[in-house]
Amino acid sequence: MADQPALHGPSRPDWACIACGTPWPCLMRRRQLKELCQCDPDVLRRYLTPYLQVARTELTELTAEQLDDRFLGWFGERS
Ligand SMILES: [Zn+2]
Repeated sequence: MADQPALHGPSRPDWACIACGTPWPCLMRRRQLKELCQCDPDVLRRYLTPYLQVARTELTELTAEQLDDRFLGWFGERS
């Protein structure tokens, strides 16, 4: 395990990062995703939307707006 790079995935249903414990997607995961998707906001949105849909049903203490912001608000959106 120790020689594996940390997997910054979400723990559920609390949606904290399993590697660093900060709200998911954490800073490191955001960085990895940007690399993975080459900063393309459309690809990032497609990737994260299914997570957002699950999170909406599990993070009921957050408003839809807060969740949108957390999952989709961190990369430069084309509008
Ligand atoms: Zn993390």
